[in-house]
Amino acid sequence: MVKRSIRFIPLFKIFDGSEVSIPMISYGDSGKRVLIVTPLHGNEVTPIYLIWRVMEYIESSDALKGSLDIVLGVNFYGLLFNMRVDPLSGRDINRSFPGGDEYGSSGHIAKSIYELAHKGYDLVLDIHGAGYSIPHIIIDYLDLEVTDYLIEVAKYSGIPYIWDYYDMEKYYGFGLDRTLTGSLVKLGVPSLTYELPTSGYSDKDMVNSFNGLINILSYLDVLDCDKLDVEDYPKEVNGLFRRRLYSEHGGFIEAFKEPGEYFIQYEDLAVIKNILGEVLERIRVDKEGYIISIRRTGVVKPYEGVTSIATVR
Ligand SMILES: [Zn+2]
Repeated sequence: MVKRSIRFIPLFKIFDGSEVSIPMISYGDSGKRVLIVTPLHGNEVTPIYLIWRVMEYIESSDALKGSLDIVLGVNFYGLLFNMRVDPLSGRDINRSFPGGDEYGSSGHIAKSIYELAHKGYDLVLDIHGAGYSIPHIIIDYLDLEVTDYLIEVAKYSGIPYIWDYYDMEKYYGFGLDRTLTGSLVKLGVPSLTYELPTSGYSDKDMVNSFNGLINILSYLDVLDCDKLDVEDYPKEVNGLFRRRLYSEHGGFIEAFKEPGEYFIQYEDLAVIKNILGEVLERIRVDKEGYIISIRRTGVVKPYEGVTSIATVR
């Protein structure tokens, strides 16, 4: 039976003398090495359920061949308050890499993870929850040798992959070069963003997400096991570009599409209504593509995202 070892990474010393630290769970100490980090966004908790399942799998099988380090609960205060950002600084940790004083506490957390990620790993995986979504992998669209390798890893997983971002000016504008993967890939460190749907523990999407992750670990020779099936996602998504569509007005969302569904040019993906139910705005785009994630109902603020799509440039 494989045993876990746990060490704690100190994050903060607080004025009452207590310390906040987060656990790093490690399996094995030889062979290929993978680092998993999650969650940088404190309101995305499905990755934690997935990690428990992976730990159970490793500990109850003899599949371990290389080494795996998992840092759990990175956005400690975000988890506590169910917030995307780091509540201490009000900043997005995943826009604060490589870390530094100008990002306050989120820069401090980012720096700890960034330094760890440089310790010779064969792959760094950053796992997120993407809401009502298909599971998908995001690869930073940087024309580097390492990206060919990342495509091979993504393809083997069976999980659809998309490029970040459809517009490179916006890639830098949104600070996507300051994500964990963005900051690593540009230096040639292999790194992927793995996005999970926010669904139940045993739902089909969760099983597929688990199988995709096991496939990645087996492709990397961290695990020695057969390839697992990942079903039901459009393969045409592969190699398209991620794009977020926003509501200009804000209002009540009514969505017409499901994650994984194809759409044509100028098709209504959702409408934004006022409180009387009148349509204020149609969410549509001048290209065809696939829905990656979408908000079905609820209130959206002006210029808040309604859907993430995969489309041609
Ligand atoms: Zn996230």
